[in-house]
Amino acid sequence: MFFKTIDFSKYSSIKVGQPTEVLMIEKGDTIPKDRYLIGGANNLLISHSPPPLMILSKDFASIEEKDNILTIGTAMPTGRIVSYAKKHNIAGFEFCSKLPGTLGGMLAMNAGVKSYEIFNILHSVEIDGKWIKKTEIAHGYRFAKLGGIATAAKFKRINGFDQALFNELLALRSNQPHDPSAGSAFKNPEGDHAGRLIEAVGLKGFRKGDMTWSEVHANFLVNLGDGTFEDAKYLIDLAKQKVLEAFNIELKEEIKIL
Ligand SMILES: Cc1cc2nc3c(=O)[nH]c(=O)nc-3n(C[C@H](O)[C@H](O)[C@H](O)COP(=O)(O)OP(=O)(O)OC[C@H]3O[C@@H](n4cnc5c(N)ncnc54)[C@H](O)[C@@H]3O)c2cc1C
Repeated sequence: MFFKTIDFSKYSSIKVGQPTEVLMIEKGDTIPKDRYLIGGANNLLISHSPPPLMILSKDFASIEEKDNILTIGTAMPTGRIVSYAKKHNIAGFEFCSKLPGTLGGMLAMNAGVKSYEIFNILHSVEIDGKWIKKTEIAHGYRFAKLGGIATAAKFKRINGFDQALFNELLALRSNQPHDPSAGSAFKNPEGDHAGRLIEAVGLKGFRKGDMTWSEVHANFLVNLGDGTFEDAKYLIDLAKQKVLEAFNIELKEEIKIL
């Protein structure tokens, strides 16, 4: 293992943060227990004093196929998983297109689009060196209790990449903001949409510094250039407060604030 400086103002999808020392974990290393693991930083908001961080090296970015089982390392970027699935005619990963991040981030967030979620197609996960079946892991909407660091996951091969589904889900992305963001800031509360609530309390397009609730999709916090952690945190807290006052609904962050 070794340290690498990552500039989060460039690396994170929302382009907030500063150069920070991150411990790079290589295959065979004992993974420290006192550091926070990041993936592609597509769902993170980094403060000025984040906890000690670590990241899995490209040693964990592999795809192997044997006996109709795919074993994928968790540092593998989602885009490369979709390309592999398309090239080898495998079904199930179509929704991962334009869902930025790594397999590890997807597993930890149970990331998904509409009714398609990574846990639907998952077989088992290697956590802290042990293979654990999906049925033994508590999971739900944008949540999975991995209880440790996932280094690889297995999926049963299903033949038939679904190009029509791929196109359909890709089209959904056209309604998404193009400015830097960390995806949805809040989880959708049961039976409602965080975006609708943010819009209803008048915050769609509301700006603080260079950070704003997107005009395109109100649940996306977007960085118009020099948005800061403070601007983002202010807008998150404001939305929570206003939605609580107006609807008595407690919005829960999907974005991880470090
Ligand atoms: C433009 C845009 C669109 C998006 N659209 C969607 C969408 O449609 N659906 C959706 O679900 N999400 C969406 N997201 C959010 C994001 O893409 C997902 O949450 C993604 O899975 C994050 O992956 P990551 O590797 O970047 O994880 P990070 O943001 O780096 O980390 C997220 C969490 O995963 C944990 N983690 C990462 N790797 C591991 C591991 N190996 N073991 C254990 N824990 C780990 C981290 O500790 C952290 O808690 C979007 C984001 C953006 C910027």
